[in-house]
Amino acid sequence: MMQLFMPLNFLGFVYREIRGALANIERMFSLLDKTPLVKDSPTAKAVSLTEGRVSFDSVGFGYGEREILKGVSFEIEPGQKVAVVGESGAGKSTLVRLLFRFYDVSQGAIRVDGIDIRDMTQDALRRAIAIVPQDTVLFNDTLFENIRYGRPDASDAEIWQAIELAHLKQFVEALPQQAQTKVGERGMKLSGGEKQRVAIARAILKRSPILVFDEATSSLDSRSERAILKALDEVAKGHTSLVIAHRLSTVVDADKILVLHQGQLVESGSHDSLLAADGYYARLWRIQHTKQTDESVQVQH
Ligand code: ATP
Repeated sequence: MMQLFMPLNFLGFVYREIRGALANIERMFSLLDKTPLVKDSPTAKAVSLTEGRVSFDSVGFGYGEREILKGVSFEIEPGQKVAVVGESGAGKSTLVRLLFRFYDVSQGAIRVDGIDIRDMTQDALRRAIAIVPQDTVLFNDTLFENIRYGRPDASDAEIWQAIELAHLKQFVEALPQQAQTKVGERGMKLSGGEKQRVAIARAILKRSPILVFDEATSSLDSRSERAILKALDEVAKGHTSLVIAHRLSTVVDADKILVLHQGQLVESGSHDSLLAADGYYARLWRIQHTKQTDESVQVQH
């Protein structure tokens, strides 16, 4: 009997490992379009990162000849909510790819909890960061198991708690087979907003000190957007969060807003201080605000 169980146990282990790896691949594909180029240095340490302090120190980077980020410096204190804004192509996603160390900086340094990320293993670094991508990959499995990808050894009770915190409970209860409903390729299709809440539930399970949220560029209905923002507030409690913002309305309550323009950090501060400074951010804000007001006027007609 034991002999029969051992291989099954082993298969279970392999299955869990593969699922963990797939969740990592999902994170990679959402940010990357090619294989990562960096390797752990022989002296890289498997550090345990618990604080969630992030610093960019005069960071420069280019994918090729062209410089994309130039002299970018900022600090994120543990528990702060920081938003990155800027026009398309300003370098917002590049910043996150560098924090994840999909590429190495060509100048300066990135530190997490005071340690240069080149001096730690990639595994240690990526354990410390949970990412909610714009487009979440759902595996052909039940919704419950899809959420478990966040941390394969999570208990059922922990998964239910994550479902609740991610504001998914009502949605789950309305499904034909509740949490056991098959989703993904051959199962039910979820909307963009629902998929992002699944990703938030996974991030809650992962319990990393740093959360990166890549806000969807495609428009969500306002109910769905509100549910996502509420869910995000839950997961961000006590964590450092970095939001790549496409809608300026979601950044108003951030502790700090980083304003990127053509790869340079041109301004940073709270929403109110940036509006008072009447610079580039204030201009972006006015443009988007006018656009949003125009759109709501059109809807009312
Ligand atoms: P968006 O809001 O449209 O997502 P972004 O601010 O996130 O834009 P990035 O994706 O960081 O901008 O891109 C910054 C610049 O780097 C762009 O000019 C882009 O064309 C270029 N770029 C991005 N990824 C690559 C890549 N893999 N290889 C070469 N150039 C790239």
